[in-house]
Amino acid sequence: MTSAPRVTVAGAGVLGLSTALALADAGARVTVHDPGGPNASSVAAGMIAPAFEAVLDATARPHFDLLMAARDHWPWFAERAGIALDRSGAMAVGEADWLATLAAGFAALHLRPTEVGGDTARSLAPGLSEAVDRALLTREDWRVDAPAALAALVRAAEAAGVIFRPEPVRERGDADVLIVATGAHGRHLADLAPELAGLNPVKGHIVRVAAPSAGAVVRARSVYAAPGASMVFGATMEHGRADVAVDEQVAGPLLAAGLDLFPACRDAPVQVAAGVRAATADGLPMVGPAAAPGVLLAVGARRNGWLLAPLVARTITACVTGRDLGPHAARFDPARFSRTS
Ligand SMILES: Cc1cc2nc3c(=O)[nH]c(=O)nc-3n(C[C@H](O)[C@H](O)[C@H](O)COP(=O)(O)OP(=O)(O)OC[C@H]3O[C@@H](n4cnc5c(N)ncnc54)[C@H](O)[C@@H]3O)c2cc1C
Repeated sequence: MTSAPRVTVAGAGVLGLSTALALADAGARVTVHDPGGPNASSVAAGMIAPAFEAVLDATARPHFDLLMAARDHWPWFAERAGIALDRSGAMAVGEADWLATLAAGFAALHLRPTEVGGDTARSLAPGLSEAVDRALLTREDWRVDAPAALAALVRAAEAAGVIFRPEPVRERGDADVLIVATGAHGRHLADLAPELAGLNPVKGHIVRVAAPSAGAVVRARSVYAAPGASMVFGATMEHGRADVAVDEQVAGPLLAAGLDLFPACRDAPVQVAAGVRAATADGLPMVGPAAAPGVLLAVGARRNGWLLAPLVARTITACVTGRDLGPHAARFDPARFSRTS
C-alpha cells in the first residue's frame, strides 16, 4: 500500500467488523456504515465449529479443510479483538445409531472424538439431563458469545481508528475501496455488484434462555445447546425465507428439545429471535473483488460466518493491501460462479 486507502465497509455484522478491524490494523482509513436493525451475527450461537459442521452438514463437508484453517485464525484474532474464546469443545448426545453415524462421519474426516459416559458428559456440560448416558466429544470445536463478541469488535475497531456511520451504503462514493459486507441484505445491492443476486436467504429461528451456563456445546439430532451468558437452543434452516418474523410454532419444538437436554433451564425467561443467513450455491462465501471496479465482497457465509470471519478479514485485507492472498482465496473468489455459468 503506497498511501493509506480510504475504505468504506457496508455492514457491521461479524464480517464487516472483522474486516474493518483488520484493514485499520493494516493502515487503511476505514469507515463502517450500518443503519442498524437485526442482523444474523447478533442472533447467532457463536459456535466456531469446523468438526460438527462438516460431520452434520453435507454442504460444509467438502470444505472441512478450509473450515479448520479458518478456526485456526481464531486464537490470535480473539486476542487482538478482546473476545473470550471458549475451547470447552462440543459433544453429541442421542440414540446409539445416530452416534454411530456421527462416529463414522468423524472417522471419514480423520477426526477421533472421545466417547464419554453420562457422568463425564454432565461434568463437561453442567445441567445436562440425567437421561444422557453417553456422548461423543470433540475438542476441535470452540465457541464465542456472539453479542459480547460483536461489542468487543466494535470497541477494538473504534480504538483502531475506525469511524462508524448510520447511513446505509448505496454506492462506492469517494472511497478508494468499498467492501460489501451486508449479509443477506446484499441482494438489494445487486445494482452495485450483480454477483450479489446469487445470494439465497436461509432464515433461522433460535431460542435464548436467560440461564447463564458454561461448558461444552451439546449437539442432539434436532437441536444444539450452546452455553454462555444465556443458554442458546438452535436453530432452524428455513430456505428461501428472508424475513425475521418470529413464529412461536416454529420455535416451540426447538425450546422443547433444548429443555429435554437441559431441564434445569425450564423456569428461566425465554427470548425467541430469527436471523437470515446468506448462502451461495457452493456453501462458501464470496470474498474478494466484484466485477465492478473498487468493490470487494465479503458475503454469503451461510451457517459459518463467525467461524470464517477472521479468515475473511485476512483475505479482504490482502486484496486491499496487495499482500499474499494465502492458499484459500481462490475458493472464496466471487468470480468462481461466473466462470462456471
Ligand atoms: C440462527 C442462526 C444461528 C447461527 N449460528 C452460527 C454459529 O453458531 N456459528 C457461525 O459461525 N455462524 C452462525 N450463524 C451464521 C452467522 O450468523 C452468519 O453467517 C454471519 O452472522 C453473517 O455475518 P455478516 O456480517 O455477513 O452479516 P449480518 O450479520 O447479517 O450483517 C450484515 C449487516 O449489514 C447491514 N446492512 C445491510 N444493508 C446495508 C447497507 N446498504 N449499508 C450498510 N449496511 C447495511 C445490516 O444492518 C447488518 O448489520 C448463524 C446464523 C443464524 C441465523
